[in-house]
Amino acid sequence: MKLPFIVIIDDDTQVLRAIQRDVRNKFREDYKVLATESASEALGAIKELKLKNETVALFISDQRMPEMEGTEFLGKTQEFFPDAKKVLLTAYSDIEAAIKAINTLRLDYYLLKPWNPPEEKLYPVVTDLLDDWQNSFTPDFEGIKIIGYQWSPLSHKIKDFLTGNLIPYKWIDVEVSKDAAELINTHNIETDELPVVLFEDGTLLKSPAEIDIANKIGLKSTASEEFYDVVIIGAGPAGLAAAVYGGTEGLKTLMIEKKAPGGQAGTSSRIENYLGFPSGLSGADLTRRALTQAQRFGVELLSPCNVIDIKMKDNYKILSLSSGTEIKTQTVIISTGVDYNTLDAKGINELTGAGIYYGAATAEAHSCKDKDVFIVGGGNSAGQAAMYLSGIAKNVFIVIRRNSLDATMSHYLIDQINKTSNITLIPNSVIVEAEGNNRLERVTLENIKTGEKKTSEAVALFIFIGAKPVTDWIKLNIIRDPKGFIVTGRDLFKSDNFKKVWKLERDPYPLETCIPGIFSAGDVRAGAMNRVASAVGEGAMAIKLVHEYLGGV
Ligand SMILES: Cc1cc2nc3c(=O)[nH]c(=O)nc-3n(C[C@H](O)[C@H](O)[C@H](O)COP(=O)(O)OP(=O)(O)OC[C@H]3O[C@@H](n4cnc5c(N)ncnc54)[C@H](O)[C@@H]3O)c2cc1C
Repeated sequence: MKLPFIVIIDDDTQVLRAIQRDVRNKFREDYKVLATESASEALGAIKELKLKNETVALFISDQRMPEMEGTEFLGKTQEFFPDAKKVLLTAYSDIEAAIKAINTLRLDYYLLKPWNPPEEKLYPVVTDLLDDWQNSFTPDFEGIKIIGYQWSPLSHKIKDFLTGNLIPYKWIDVEVSKDAAELINTHNIETDELPVVLFEDGTLLKSPAEIDIANKIGLKSTASEEFYDVVIIGAGPAGLAAAVYGGTEGLKTLMIEKKAPGGQAGTSSRIENYLGFPSGLSGADLTRRALTQAQRFGVELLSPCNVIDIKMKDNYKILSLSSGTEIKTQTVIISTGVDYNTLDAKGINELTGAGIYYGAATAEAHSCKDKDVFIVGGGNSAGQAAMYLSGIAKNVFIVIRRNSLDATMSHYLIDQINKTSNITLIPNSVIVEAEGNNRLERVTLENIKTGEKKTSEAVALFIFIGAKPVTDWIKLNIIRDPKGFIVTGRDLFKSDNFKKVWKLERDPYPLETCIPGIFSAGDVRAGAMNRVASAVGEGAMAIKLVHEYLGGV
């Protein structure tokens, strides 16, 4: 396999030699290093690399150079290798330019000179960036291939499942791809057996269920032990944080996820406000980091696997899983988050998965290339999706009932949307009908003030209209608020039922439900803040309270 390149540019010979030496020392086994003093020479070389079908993983450029500034040089590289990571080498006096470049150029990092010792200041940063790059980079494809029809709901489900589980795949559309006919012939596939998933070992699954794919690729849906200190239900940010803390604190920890780790955050194209990531990070990236961290500390993950019931036996909790097995645990953290409300309009149900999607559905974004797409909803998730899709679609229309986005969306997103010429806000409006022959082709909007209706062509409709807690699976008498969110801690005192179920002398711990030893964290909890950071905070806090509970049992 061809090694990718790290390209370094600095007009100062001594600095160039030093950084070239340090980068080579650490990364030469996996990357080729190309270093030069001249920006124009570097741009020529980059063009050559592109022509030769080589790849660049990382650019490191000094900011102050006579021919052009580093930010300008890094901007020009985007034409050739837009996915390469970009690092600016700066002096203290250039920090302002570097911070500006985080927004304008999506600069990944600025590195202050000198970077000694490299083990502390250079290698961790570069390793992290290269890991991120590797994760999203697909060389000549050797992994899983899905052959199917673009507008088939099952194809969408499979793509969504693999994307959510961070498993790379190649999508082959039978109606578009030249390779499809050859693969269908070679594998004797009938068109009514599509979608088909082809694996690296040459085997295939026809119209498979998620669990069949999971079993084939080695995702685990059976626990290795019968008894745990803590079982976390749901692997969104709250569950993942609880898993990391459970693992680091030596608790025998199991996390169970029904779909794919990451939860709602995992579907976000860019989280801009999570502490410590100044240029933002994608939900997939956050999930991958958190999962690696949890697994490093010995946490076990079952996915996809659905918890369908919790029963009590003495002080122990017994969880029933969709696989038909049971697990015993001392404590439980319910972090099952929220699920999207469905849109009630003519044609929506029939075309869901075939051009109509709930949530971000990043796996389907490519099908919107140069087409018109609609988004329903005025919250931050709708705003993020609009920004993401504006880079792919021809036009993005945001449909909202209200007059403006002011009360529902963060200002930074409203600003970004206002500055993006191909996003249009359609206020005071609702979708009343979706139409199409096996796939979405048109949507009809109604202005709720004037009653006027308008039908427009649309290749996709993304729906973000609020969410409901995922608690309907709980049969145990866990006190919930009228909307179904789990009530915890002192808020339980307001419930008339509390005294009937709580029989301990102590008060419930802050995130404890009305059943001792069952805690709840994140969006599923009544009064939660609906943010990644707060979900992570509550997940971490829940483990502290699990310890207190275990200490007192
Ligand atoms: C598109 C989008 C963008 C967002 N962007 C931001 C942002 O930029 N910044 C920010 O702060 N917040 C953002 N949010 C909000 C943030 O993602 C949520 O607040 C956060 O994900 C809540 O985490 P959680 O762990 O409580 O729940 P969730 O993320 O909802 O995760 C719950 C998990 O539990 C699983 N589950 C449910 N039931 C079961 C069961 N019975 N058995 C097993 N597993 C189960 C689900 O499959 C899911 O994976 C965004 C949300 C969306 C949808």
